[in-house]
Amino acid sequence: MYPPPSLIILKLLLSTLLLVTPSQSLSQGNHEDDHESSSLFCESWRFSVETNNAGNWSTIPSRCYEFVNHYMTGDRYVSDLGVTGRNALDYAKTVDIAGDGMDAWVFDIDETLLSMLAYYKLHKFRSTTLKVEVKWGLRHKLTVLPASLSLYNEIRQLGFTVFLLTGRPEWLRNQTVTNLLYAGYNDWERLILRQSYDERKKAIDYKSENRKQLEDEGYRIHGSLGDQWSDLLGYATAQRSFKYPNLMYYAA
Ligand SMILES: [Mg+2]
Repeated sequence: MYPPPSLIILKLLLSTLLLVTPSQSLSQGNHEDDHESSSLFCESWRFSVETNNAGNWSTIPSRCYEFVNHYMTGDRYVSDLGVTGRNALDYAKTVDIAGDGMDAWVFDIDETLLSMLAYYKLHKFRSTTLKVEVKWGLRHKLTVLPASLSLYNEIRQLGFTVFLLTGRPEWLRNQTVTNLLYAGYNDWERLILRQSYDERKKAIDYKSENRKQLEDEGYRIHGSLGDQWSDLLGYATAQRSFKYPNLMYYAA
């Protein structure tokens, strides 16, 4: 009538294997699935940011903090900047430089020539406010992006006249010049910063107006490099614009 004790023990063992082991595996699998799902989501989020499909976003999704950390501190960011720099240089070499000093190239500064990476690391890549970032920037020198310095020097050697067009306010001029020189940049033609009458302007309008001013002075703007679409679009745009990635913020 009753099964022998050895069979009961075997059944118990089997049920233990069936019930416990699979659930433990499932638990580990879920963790990996979560990671993969986040990674996939964050790749798509990055695509939406870079294409501007995301529009005027302000906060990195919390599940992507680690993704952004990995992107910014690993090889990928350096590689993306390097490829962009080579694309820009390949184009620059095709430009017929007239030799009259009017062939121009426009560079943005923040996250283009200089990097806040040290600050982002400190804050573990969580979004912060611009006010906090400026405060930190006042106390620390921003570091150079090597791909940018290399491109900058090549552009200068090819004979372009270089303009630096930044959304930084005029009162940061001295600090900005000091930081640029410290990072290795020199011999720019003009550093253009926001004046008091620019304060309420959108970045895209402010930058377009200043490029138009350069054109009105007779400069031919062949190339432009920036990390925001507002550095590059609008009017009086360069013949070719080159965009760096920026997963930390968006400026309209
Ligand atoms: Mg910038």
